[in-house]
Amino acid sequence: MVALLALFACDAAAPSARVVVLGMDGLEYTALDRYAEDLPNFARFFEGALRADMEVTRPIMSPILWTTMASGYGVDQHGVGGWTNGQGRSFTGADVRTERVWDALSGEGRESVVSGWLMTWPAPAIEGALLSDRFVWSVPMSRDPSQPVHSDHREVTTFPDGLATLAAGLLPTEAELRAMPLGYQVEKYGAPSHPLRRDELHVRVFEALWPEQNADFGALYLNGADQVSHIYWPFADPDIQGLIRADPAAHKRAVDEVIARFPSRPMPVYGEQGLDASGLAEASRWVPDYYRYLDSVLGRVMDTVGPDVTLIVCSDHGFQVSQSKPLVDGQHHEIAVFAARGPRVKAQVGATMHVYDVAPTLYALLGLPSAADMPGRVRDDLFELNVREPVASRVLERAQIEVGAGEGGAGDDALREQLEALGYIDEEGRPQTAIGESRKRPGEGPSGRGPRKPGAR
Ligand SMILES: [Zn+2]
Repeated sequence: MVALLALFACDAAAPSARVVVLGMDGLEYTALDRYAEDLPNFARFFEGALRADMEVTRPIMSPILWTTMASGYGVDQHGVGGWTNGQGRSFTGADVRTERVWDALSGEGRESVVSGWLMTWPAPAIEGALLSDRFVWSVPMSRDPSQPVHSDHREVTTFPDGLATLAAGLLPTEAELRAMPLGYQVEKYGAPSHPLRRDELHVRVFEALWPEQNADFGALYLNGADQVSHIYWPFADPDIQGLIRADPAAHKRAVDEVIARFPSRPMPVYGEQGLDASGLAEASRWVPDYYRYLDSVLGRVMDTVGPDVTLIVCSDHGFQVSQSKPLVDGQHHEIAVFAARGPRVKAQVGATMHVYDVAPTLYALLGLPSAADMPGRVRDDLFELNVREPVASRVLERAQIEVGAGEGGAGDDALREQLEALGYIDEEGRPQTAIGESRKRPGEGPSGRGPRKPGAR
């Protein structure tokens, strides 16, 4: 009897295996610190949390890195080599050649809620619910009225199909967006081009689904910080602000130089005239105001999931002032955010993490085995975990891959325009792809982490 009671007590105390990942593309620690006073929910989150610097692989491209975090594999195994494949076609979820966490959970009959994660279109059939990254296309922040926005073709943008109706009802209207604190930004670019509409939809869908589903895993992805930072990062940087204030013509000269070198480059909303002191005052608000929005999102997600769920906040890279165009652009850098809070977290500041470790650790948190051929490791130094014997591989057999479903399709042109605007397609128009890069440059990755050949399954 005593033993039985002890067993019950032990069971009741067992920490939840539920995990939610809140992915914020381009989230940067130095900005979180700089704006800390205005970010009360990040402060609440970081209290008693794990806060780690996460090293990521090169090239630093969002589709590669978010797929690595969800799968545990590098580019040569997971198959997403960037935004486009070098032959004018965008990578999509149909290119992914490995299981991702929600696939493995589905195999066990366990549910996930996935909202907006990159490379999830066409929406796969999973246990639970998935809103793909092409329900609302990510389009460039540009005022060009001829820019394609989206069609109402919503086939395979969600799973199950019925989720499309719910999501359409949750899509914020232009009036709602303009009434939000970021309304001034939405007004400048128009609702379809500013990322708030898409990010807010992803959050609303997650908030609607998580309490309803009996999901063990949640994945919510937002890309607004990345988009806004590409264009407005320099103006939030105190050194660049000082340069522009000291020399009011400096920004215009820098813009002229960029236009002369890259005449086809779409210009940001502040236009070709450059920023003077008053323009700078407004432009300097864009990044911190987006961080305030993300702070409110974090508060909503914390309230939605509650304290028993392990909540991870992460990014795929940080941001810095561009090295080649410091007065004009923001630029990725290789230290990303990885922070976690919840009953199984070993709270600490200053830990280091690697992007390859994310998926193996997620698998362990969920009570699932990672795979022996994953280049990363289960981080039981950062979480309370019962590590299981790994399976040989989570790379899919050829027959398990849906070939061709991603040809062209919804949003391809819009996506390409965005890539151009953000510089992922280089200024001579050459698309960049990273498939095979790690084979060509084996020494590039961090030591001892080169991807191994996937084992037989
Ligand atoms: Zn990114």
